Amino acid sequence: MNEPFSPPVQSEPIAAIATPVGVGALAVVRMSGEGVFSITDRIFTKARSPETSLSESPGYTAHFGKLHDGDRMIDEVIVLVFRSPDSFTTEDIVEITCHGGPVVTKHVLKLLLDNGCRLAEPGEFTRRAFLNGRIDLLQAEAIGEMIHARSESAYRTAVNQMKGGLSGKLNGLREQLLQSCALLELELDFSEEDVEFQSREELSGQVDMLQKEVEKLVESYQHGRLLSEGVATAIIGKPNAGKSTLLNALLGEERAIVSHMPGTTRDYIEECFIYDKTMFRLTDTAGLRDAVEEIEHEGVRRSYEKIAEADLILYLMDIGASDYEQEVQAIAELRDKHPDIRLMVVANKTDTVDDSVRRAEGVAEQTGCMVLGISALKQEGLDVLKAEMNAMVEGLDKLHEASVLVTSMRHYEALRNAADALQNARELIDAQSETELIAFELRSALDYVGEITGKVVNEEVLNVIFGQFCIGK
Ligand code: GDP
Repeated sequence: MNEPFSPPVQSEPIAAIATPVGVGALAVVRMSGEGVFSITDRIFTKARSPETSLSESPGYTAHFGKLHDGDRMIDEVIVLVFRSPDSFTTEDIVEITCHGGPVVTKHVLKLLLDNGCRLAEPGEFTRRAFLNGRIDLLQAEAIGEMIHARSESAYRTAVNQMKGGLSGKLNGLREQLLQSCALLELELDFSEEDVEFQSREELSGQVDMLQKEVEKLVESYQHGRLLSEGVATAIIGKPNAGKSTLLNALLGEERAIVSHMPGTTRDYIEECFIYDKTMFRLTDTAGLRDAVEEIEHEGVRRSYEKIAEADLILYLMDIGASDYEQEVQAIAELRDKHPDIRLMVVANKTDTVDDSVRRAEGVAEQTGCMVLGISALKQEGLDVLKAEMNAMVEGLDKLHEASVLVTSMRHYEALRNAADALQNARELIDAQSETELIAFELRSALDYVGEITGKVVNEEVLNVIFGQFCIGK
């Protein structure tokens, strides 16, 4: 049976420019909240049937006309009407498509503010959509991820999350947890009668299964992170090996400057390139240059730690150099210390010696690493290099198509806490501990999962999440 319809409570009207700053053919300024139709009526005259007001227009209609401030015309615009609850925020929404350009849009926005709107805070539209139950927290975050997606894979994952992929999975888990919790709490209510509504063996099995599912999600973060943030790739090697040349060659036409993302620690500019569907984030290697020298000179542990921060290491060497063999030791050492790291040796400057293939094979043999010959200067072997880099992080595409991935640190941490609580619960069950203690752990797991979708709301978390959005989203 459908629940009886009750229109959402509408908050004070907010307005913001929804399109990026700058010159463009068109721009969108939007409003949401109580009274946005009457505000529009005061400043907008329809070209067709001007006698009818916007307040009388049905939802999902578009109206062409003039925007004016008293007698002064501001722009010719198209006004879109969305009626509560059938809108993004579930409130009444008016979207004004005006001509692009910073001055026009500012005039339009000022007009709305002068007529009773408040300037929206970053992410406030999406926050209202969440608070009014239109989307859950995960979907709200997915919108942010989609806007910031820089590769096809990151975009696909965000779309999947927006459609409710991870939400569905978590809601399923929550349901099962709730059931176990409810049964345990019933037992507590009847504690004097010493009844068990579910055998401890059964409960243990169920908790075990839930824990495995949560852990699977926790593990998926390893891949999910690479998708959403890009593969942190470091090019290291001795001075003059050709690192800058390779960096520029890799960035080439696909050069993409990643812009400032407010609220994150990555507020410096990084350079990325996309190969196939994967984004490679070429991290600042300045620190790593020193690291390599340290490795060569004294093999300092600290330098290895720096290197371990990257997802993929390209160790670039000048294969034409007379002393190239001296590096073999450093590479072998790096390999030994970090058997898990994705490390590829790139033998550069193959154009400078005739026996580069033989030399490269020798390095491969002595280090146990994959060695790939290129000439960064002549741009030879770069396609093979990119394909090999992609192969090293392979499986990403297949994974994101097929399954639900955890891509955010916030979700990852909450899931890890949930897995820990489930582990504690299982140990307590197996040790035949008191019902109260078991119920406590299960409740914690439930809360951690609820934090992700927003079933358990924490104001601070909301501020962080929505603060990362741009104004107008
Ligand atoms: P970095 O110090 O490792 O960043 O090295 P650079 O990229 O600045 O390159 C050092 C020098 O080597 C420059 O003169 C480059 O033009 C040259 N170089 C880089 N790659 C190649 C290559 O594949 N072949 C040749 N012949 N020279 C190269």
